[in-house]
Amino acid sequence: MINPSVSIEDYLGAIYRLQRKDGQPLPLGDLQEHFGFSPISIHEMVQKLVQRGLAVYIPYKGVLLTLTGSTTAEALIRRHRIWECFLSNELAVPIDEAHQLAGDLEHAAPDWITERLFNHLGQPSFCPHGSAIDELTSTPVGISIANGQAGRTYVISCISPENSNSLQIAREAGILPGSSLTIIEKKNGNIEIEINDQKKQLSEDDLAYFWGMDMTDGS
Ligand SMILES: [Zn+2]
Repeated sequence: MINPSVSIEDYLGAIYRLQRKDGQPLPLGDLQEHFGFSPISIHEMVQKLVQRGLAVYIPYKGVLLTLTGSTTAEALIRRHRIWECFLSNELAVPIDEAHQLAGDLEHAAPDWITERLFNHLGQPSFCPHGSAIDELTSTPVGISIANGQAGRTYVISCISPENSNSLQIAREAGILPGSSLTIIEKKNGNIEIEINDQKKQLSEDDLAYFWGMDMTDGS
């Protein structure tokens, strides 16, 4: 059974965000991991996308968006990011909650309202998680902090992929675009970092969501 709270548009957005840069089909296992649903639910939803001409399914390989699917997903993600800006920047909603609420508003608000909001906000370039609003396919700037080096300081450019897990870590650890993060030590899959004058231990997997530019003196 399909989870009623997750719409076709959510699947479309997720496929767009998770899709492979090399143009290979996205394995359904990746969608399963992302949503935490059964393979049957995922398969049913993919079939709905296929019926609507939004995606093609290649057996044993995965799913690819059609041109219509991509265009629809792009419009959706743009709306999502504009609503996130409003919630986070204007109403001071924490970033993980802003992401969730934007997920509702992006479906509920007509396009013209979202575009008026975009202008009202001064046409922001980035969402609060550091993703570009008008260059949806741009790859994250800098390197993944999981691949960073001990002793170096990075300014966080973005959190990617954006999902409830990554944004919860961001909120709890206080790692936001614009923050300076220093890697103190890497050991056994864990990384000790210093952020906002506090030392914290996070796993490499958790830090793989954060991207940054090396700002260590002299580099
Ligand atoms: Zn965002």
